Amino acid sequence: MKILVVGGAGYIGSHCVRQIQAAGHEPVIVDNFVYGHRGSVPNGVPLHEGDMGNIEFIESILTSESIDVVMHFAAFTYVGESTTDPLKYYENNVSKTVALLQAMRNASVPKFIFSSSCTVFGEAEEMPLHEDLPLRAFSPYGQTKQDVETMLGFCARAYGLSYAIFRYFNASGADPKGTIGEDHDPETHLIPLAIQAAQGKRDKLTVFGTDYPTPDGTCLRDYVHVNDLSRAHIAAFEKLDSPGTELHYNLGTGKPASVLEVINVVKEVSGLSVPYDVGPRREGDVPAAYANPAKAIEELEWEIEFPDIQSIVASAWKWHQSHPNGFEQ
Ligand code: UDP
Repeated sequence: MKILVVGGAGYIGSHCVRQIQAAGHEPVIVDNFVYGHRGSVPNGVPLHEGDMGNIEFIESILTSESIDVVMHFAAFTYVGESTTDPLKYYENNVSKTVALLQAMRNASVPKFIFSSSCTVFGEAEEMPLHEDLPLRAFSPYGQTKQDVETMLGFCARAYGLSYAIFRYFNASGADPKGTIGEDHDPETHLIPLAIQAAQGKRDKLTVFGTDYPTPDGTCLRDYVHVNDLSRAHIAAFEKLDSPGTELHYNLGTGKPASVLEVINVVKEVSGLSVPYDVGPRREGDVPAAYANPAKAIEELEWEIEFPDIQSIVASAWKWHQSHPNGFEQ
């Protein structure tokens, strides 16, 4: 199958491109390089530079490349920034997704895979998080994901769009081949920040709060390897054949790790110390978020190849050691 990977030069998109190739399908990349890296695009994969909000541009690619499925990884993801500049998030994450879906409609491409986030569940009353819990996002970023989820439901019923929504927990790690990995600017995620503190690229890490109602007082998160996430997407292709199919999966390992546990694993894996201090809670952080991945495991035969935080951090460490300054371009 031919898969249009929108945001294919970004962190998760670029890993998905490799997994699509490994599964014997053909990826085609669209990226506007606002956050993507040219160095993450593999040789030989068609690259169309431009914006998913440009309906004619996307429509012409869908037609000329005979695309079967569209995958959308092109969201803005900084929760804090979404609070100070919500319109930027609504424009990119909602308006431009409307345009992308419109282009798909015009070109009669009816299969869509959408990257959502566990943040759509907000501060849930139940843990682990399963698919049937109510959606209660509270940040503008989370709300944009929730709004697209709702919109996709309407499109499925009105136009016969078939979609799979994947709610990621904490996407982490790097392809073990060592050529691509996580390179955000600014970086806000715990694992790369802890690695950079170990490498001496940052003075220290700040632990955001040690007074949460968790075993060690720091937040619990479900770190899931980016290649594992990618393989779940590919397993969904064959489930999208009937018009109007609506699928929702929570993708995490189901095994939470605390902030202090992650820091300890970075110490173990690197053999270096991780300097850190303790700061106040970060606004918007929930005490715990981890998945019940049973539905993806059962229905998609999803196999988690990186089931523990050690193997995930080890893959990230390899990338950061071999690419201390991230991608060259
Ligand atoms: N965190 C932290 N210090 C940092 C960055 C993150 O203590 O500099 C904590 C954060 O409060 C959360 C966890 O690490 O509990 C994971 O945060 P991250 O930003 O990586 O992902 P999120 O769960 O917010 O999507």
